[in-house]
Amino acid sequence: MTGPVVAGLTKSECLCDHDEESDPTQIVEEDAHITVPEWRLHKVQSPILLKHDETNHYDHFEPLEFHGHWDQGGEATLSNNGFTATLRFQNRELPVLIGGPLHEDQYVFEQLHFHWSDDDHSGCEHIFEGQAYSMEAHAVHYNKKYEDFKEAADKHDGLAVVAFFLKATDDDEHPCFNKMTEAVKKIVKIDSITSVPSDCLTWIKEEAQCKGYYTYQGSLTTEPYTESVTWIIYPTPIHVSREQVSEFRNMKSTPCEQHNIVKNVRPIQTPAGDKKLDIIYARSHRKSE
Ligand SMILES: [Zn+2]
Repeated sequence: MTGPVVAGLTKSECLCDHDEESDPTQIVEEDAHITVPEWRLHKVQSPILLKHDETNHYDHFEPLEFHGHWDQGGEATLSNNGFTATLRFQNRELPVLIGGPLHEDQYVFEQLHFHWSDDDHSGCEHIFEGQAYSMEAHAVHYNKKYEDFKEAADKHDGLAVVAFFLKATDDDEHPCFNKMTEAVKKIVKIDSITSVPSDCLTWIKEEAQCKGYYTYQGSLTTEPYTESVTWIIYPTPIHVSREQVSEFRNMKSTPCEQHNIVKNVRPIQTPAGDKKLDIIYARSHRKSE
């Protein structure tokens, strides 16, 4: 994911260079030049390993609801920024995510992008039960109480990212996912953009309805790695064909067209010390529109 650089906090300025014995709140007080909100000291970086047995089960959330994600109308585009393929909607009311771990806030769809690798067994960022899948799709939403994605991106409740795993199989291609792969063929060049049918997200519909998901508070998995993300991760992979995954590897990462985007996955991040992550397993109870 991309976002603005967080002013006043870089890696060298954070806790990493300090004595582990010291109290992190002391560091903030000692350095008058840096104001570090408390939530940035939690140091929960993404992606992480997910194990069902190590999660807290919680059934009291309101249902998580997707509104408008697979509706027709308006326009959609897919673009190549040299790092990933990014889907955006235009000229329509943007989809909204509500409920679940998002409390009373509404989160507006900003973009959906993909992570993949040079083989079919290491292209996801989160690892569920030790299993690495072929790709991971991230549907990025920002909290509507902020002006836009840019303003929300460094707030602790700023972003909600829904993650879906994709598994390459020898089976037939996924017909709905074909709307994405056909578009990927048209954005091989860096900075290229193409139109996509506006109902191009139907391949996530089944997974996003009536199933359990994992949620935790983490970070962006690309710079500036801000800890502003409520992650919502669906564990069951969506099956696509190997050919559909391989189309993404043809995308170019440089204007000279000598390099492909072969791997855009951040490695698993391990919490500092024996810090235990608070990962919740929640169930959706109601079908979304
Ligand atoms: Zn991502």
